[in-house]
Amino acid sequence: MTRERLYLFDTTLRDGQQTPGVDFSIDDKLTVMEFLDRLGIDYIEGGYPGGNPTDTALFAEPRNTRATFTAFGMTKRAGRSAANDPGLQALLQAKVPAICFVAKSWDYHVRVALGCTNEENLESIRDSVKAAKDAGREVLVDCEHFFDGYKANPDYATACAKIAYEAGARWVVLCDTNGGAMPSEVTEIVRTMTKIVPGHHLGIHAHNDTEQAVANSLAAVDAGVRQIQGTLNGIGERCGNANLVSLIGTLATKKHYRERFETGITEERLKDLTHVSRAFDELLNRAPLSQAPYVGKSAFATKAGIHASALAKEPETYEHVPPETVGNRRRVLVSDQAGKSNLIAELTRVGISVSKDDPRLDHLLREVKEREAQGYAYDGADASFELLARRMLGSVPHYFDVLSFRTSVEQFNGEMHSEAIVKVKVGNEVMINAGEGNGPVNALDVALRKDLGKFQKHIEDMDLVDFKVRILNGGTGATTRVLVESRDGKGERWFTVGVSPNIVEASFQALLDSITYKLVRDGVAA
Ligand SMILES: [Zn+2]
Repeated sequence: MTRERLYLFDTTLRDGQQTPGVDFSIDDKLTVMEFLDRLGIDYIEGGYPGGNPTDTALFAEPRNTRATFTAFGMTKRAGRSAANDPGLQALLQAKVPAICFVAKSWDYHVRVALGCTNEENLESIRDSVKAAKDAGREVLVDCEHFFDGYKANPDYATACAKIAYEAGARWVVLCDTNGGAMPSEVTEIVRTMTKIVPGHHLGIHAHNDTEQAVANSLAAVDAGVRQIQGTLNGIGERCGNANLVSLIGTLATKKHYRERFETGITEERLKDLTHVSRAFDELLNRAPLSQAPYVGKSAFATKAGIHASALAKEPETYEHVPPETVGNRRRVLVSDQAGKSNLIAELTRVGISVSKDDPRLDHLLREVKEREAQGYAYDGADASFELLARRMLGSVPHYFDVLSFRTSVEQFNGEMHSEAIVKVKVGNEVMINAGEGNGPVNALDVALRKDLGKFQKHIEDMDLVDFKVRILNGGTGATTRVLVESRDGKGERWFTVGVSPNIVEASFQALLDSITYKLVRDGVAA
């Protein structure tokens, strides 16, 4: 049976950036793009070139994503030609194959927010789509406030969608910008719209203000749209956008959708879903939601008792889908077997192949569990996980020993100063390195990487890009987890983690892992 293609469009980096407290750096954006590409998303909307310096830099060079990399921007202003509109011209400079315009489709907003006539707005949509098409771009048009606009003035909302399609837009995206639409309304309005614009040119962009963004997206698919827009873990303004993670879980596992639609998410990539969701939360420096559908820690957990014993015999009695399909695992009952297959999957992901009968796997599994109980989280720190695994499997050379280190923080003349001294032994040579920095961790990093003897040339191009601290259980007995992001001259990035009651020690562990990882990855011998 041939399945219809359903396209997934991610706007984590554009609409998701509207989330209070979320502000992506360019490195964060590149990391998220890797996550999305790994999953098999079709479109990645990177941001708003010209909207802020980060996005302008992001779009200044071509990005080699498997997904269609997309820039977002406004249609031309009324009273100017497309060629004379600086905003539109800047958007056309973005090094992307696709452009997504946002267009007003509610006459009330045209009057109040744009202050132009309904006809002028239609012209803006038409001319902007044409200009981008002529510049060789695939064009998408987000019809903002479409559902509210349709309810107020169906003829005008329809005219906006129609002119975008007729001008050559590949996708006309119907947006529930205020997030108040009900699934039944979405079904009815989308069905009517498919008579004007064919469903395989229609998309849905739903917000979650009544907690129905996912339901509204699925209702739109059932009514005929073939593109869904959403964000990782549903981040976004107010109550968020449609959660792509939940949508992917449903589209890939539920018969009703799986049998009718094909997406870019293969069965293999689906197993990465839990990892990507959690790694994204780590990047945001927030704890993953344990009740998140499909990927949460509790999504397949059952309290002991009658359910647990039935679950042991026949998991499908209490599970709507097998947790392994989305890379999650069953809890409470965690048989060692289940834990082990999960571990093997993680090892495969970082490129380590090991037979499932290898007795060392049991040790590694125990070690990982123990460390997770102490506060380590490996979902956001692949490099530390890989190092731990390689150490237990016996393939990490002994490069150097840190004999001691010391940091100091002092204030004079109203300014803070930090110094660090690190004593390292490389082979038979003992070196004492000092470093200064704007804080103790920075000073330690400088001192540690100042002179590593014969290994120095391998770490010279390394940089500490980011450093995130999370206090795990409050109070004076708190544990600190530090996540460090490093980068080298080739632009490769990796993440390491350290845990300790002492923030300096946690940071030091993560820094050490980062250096060792670089040496291992470059195949340096001890
Ligand atoms: Zn939106």
